[in-house]
Amino acid sequence: MRLEEKSLLIDCGSGVLNRLSEAEILHTKVDTVLLSHLHLDHVADLMCLLKANWLCGKTDMRVYGPKRTEEWFSRVLGAYDYILDKVDVEVIELFPGKDFTPEGFDCEISCTYAMHSVPNLAYRVAAEDGKFVYSGDTEPCRNVMDLAAEADLLLHECSFPPGTEVTNHTTPSTLAEILEEFESDIGSICLTHFYPNMRGHEKEAISRLREYFEGEVILGEDLKKLEM
Ligand SMILES: [Zn+2]
Ligand SMILES: [Zn+2]
Repeated sequence: MRLEEKSLLIDCGSGVLNRLSEAEILHTKVDTVLLSHLHLDHVADLMCLLKANWLCGKTDMRVYGPKRTEEWFSRVLGAYDYILDKVDVEVIELFPGKDFTPEGFDCEISCTYAMHSVPNLAYRVAAEDGKFVYSGDTEPCRNVMDLAAEADLLLHECSFPPGTEVTNHTTPSTLAEILEEFESDIGSICLTHFYPNMRGHEKEAISRLREYFEGEVILGEDLKKLEM
C-alpha cells in the first residue's frame, strides 16, 4: 500500500524484494511491515529486505504481527549473527481491538483473528481515500466479514478451486456462501493467494462469486495496482 511517499508492506513472502524494485518502490522506503501470520510464504523475504536495507544504510524497521512474532523474529535474526547488532528492529505484537497508526502514515489500522491453522491477523487499513481489508490466510469467517463490512475493497485469499473440500483456506464456493450469508456492503473483492491447483480455474472463480456478489471481482496478480 502506498500513502504519499511511504509504502506500507503487508506480508513479505518470497519474491517481494524483487517485486518492489519492479514496482519502482525503493526498498529503503519500506520500514513498516504488517505480518498476517508467520507461515513461510508470508515472511520469507523479510530478512532479505532487512539485509538489503542495511546494505544501503537503512537500519531501522518496524514489524507488526500476531502473538509470538517477537520470539519468532529474534530466533530468525539470531541465525544471522553478522547482521544482529547492525539493525534496529522494533517488533510489535498486535491483538484485536488495538487500533493503531504506524508512525509516518496517515491511516488507522484495525485487526481481527481470522481462521487459520496458526494465529492469523486480518487487517483493515482506513485512509482518507477509502478502506481496505486484507484477510491473510483463512477460511471464510465472521470476523473477517465483520471487519470488511463497509470496506471499499476486500483482498481475500482464495487458495483452492471451487468445490475443493478444505479447512484453514478459502475456495470461491466457500467465499460465495459467506458473502451471501452476510450481505456485507463491500465495494469490490480481489482474490489472492492462489495455490498452483487454482490455475485454470480463474474464470470459474469469478463467475461463482458473481452469483452472490454485485461488486467487482478482481483476480490478484503480481504488480497489480488497485486504487481506491
Ligand atoms: Zn498460512
Ligand atoms: Zn499462505
